[in-house]
Amino acid sequence: MTVRVRFAPSPTGMFHVGGARSALQNWIYAKQQGGVFVLRIEDTDAARNRPEWTEGILSALDWIGIARGSYEGPYFQSSYAGEHRAAAQRLYEGGRAYYCDCTREDVQARTGSQYSGYDGYCRDRGLTPGEGRALRFRTPDEGETVVVDLIRGEPTFENKLIEDFVIARGNGSPVFLLANVVDDMSMGITHVIRAEEHLPNTPKQQLLWDALGVKPPVWAHVPVVVNEKRQKLSKRRDKVALEAYRDEGYLADAMRNYLMLLGWAPSGDREIVPWSVIEEEFRLEGVNPSPAFFDEKKLRAFNGEYIRALSVEDFVAACRPWLTGTDTIAPPPWQPAEFDATVFAAVAPLAQTRIAVLSEIVPNVDFLFLADPLIDEAAWAKAMKEGSAELLDAATAAFEALPSWEAEPIKAALEAVGAERGLKLGKAQAPVRVAVTGRTVGLPLFESLEVLGRERTLARLRAARVRLV
Ligand code: GLU
Repeated sequence: MTVRVRFAPSPTGMFHVGGARSALQNWIYAKQQGGVFVLRIEDTDAARNRPEWTEGILSALDWIGIARGSYEGPYFQSSYAGEHRAAAQRLYEGGRAYYCDCTREDVQARTGSQYSGYDGYCRDRGLTPGEGRALRFRTPDEGETVVVDLIRGEPTFENKLIEDFVIARGNGSPVFLLANVVDDMSMGITHVIRAEEHLPNTPKQQLLWDALGVKPPVWAHVPVVVNEKRQKLSKRRDKVALEAYRDEGYLADAMRNYLMLLGWAPSGDREIVPWSVIEEEFRLEGVNPSPAFFDEKKLRAFNGEYIRALSVEDFVAACRPWLTGTDTIAPPPWQPAEFDATVFAAVAPLAQTRIAVLSEIVPNVDFLFLADPLIDEAAWAKAMKEGSAELLDAATAAFEALPSWEAEPIKAALEAVGAERGLKLGKAQAPVRVAVTGRTVGLPLFESLEVLGRERTLARLRAARVRLV
């Protein structure tokens, strides 16, 4: 038997990090088993689907290493509407489903309670198909449905507690539950690895597999992803879009490594491991079924480590989108002609050790490419104290007099200027830094000044002096 898994997202919005995690787990499982990964876009809910979201899914998968062309599909669920209807018809003809014209209110009036599932009223009424009549699956009165789940053991559901659920709406269109099963069946899916949120659907779906006469797949329900308050990650409340992380400057390698740690860990006391190790060591059976905490702070720290592990050359290349702007990344504050790749290359190693996400490169280097630095007023107010004007004058004079413009002598000159005024280097640096870069924090100051050049440094010190009077 060839293992066939699928990732079956609905194109209803940005690509959720939890979805990315499930996709990677499917991907690795297929690879380990010598199987096939199928991508199916579940686009039947026409009102909520948009083609650009499908493109978003494909490019997000590409980004985390599931490249177009290296899997089967994408298939589109909407192309199989005929098969879904045929399956509904077969279930009806075989007596496994029946038509029902009850409204929710009808059921409530009969049961005298809140709606807590269908009461089976139409089971034996023999209604024929007709507008407004839903098709319901006749669930068995006895026995139990045992779901074989690689992560959760064998969750068992008593059949009599499973209501006769709807498989096609009053207008004849099959519902998700059925369409999803029929597609898995016709695509020969052997293992369904998906989010825990679908577990309540699973006994119903397995009953459909049985009723349609096909051996059900093996299931694996991967844990729900939660925020620090243990709430399910939601797109309204949390940053969940993979694209948002990508555009903020998370590296794909860091992201996929982190995503795989949601509910699983590699051997030894390690978390940051090469992808090849994850591919080798990951076991679906080893995934912890409890909710997995998506810790953005930890992801950030991870990303910083991945950034530091890049060669300088790769780091420079990785920063490019933020230095130029792209379709989805805002352009930097400087004009394209103001950017100088040689200057950037000179400071890149300094920045590489200091940023955790690539977008942070921009505020660290903008002073090099803008004609005038962007002055952060709060930083200015903090750094410019009584005596700063005089200190800037002295620094300007000392810098002008330097025989060569290099970090070490620049530092020594400012150190001397500070010492004459009873100031430690840190205190003497602050007004110079804000005058030249506009900020109180940033790259090492003296290297920055060296790269900026003497003329531009002096011009900014003078401009700051003017601002101070
Ligand atoms: N389309 C469903 C979703 O996006 C997936 C269903 C499944 O994996 O079985 O949640």
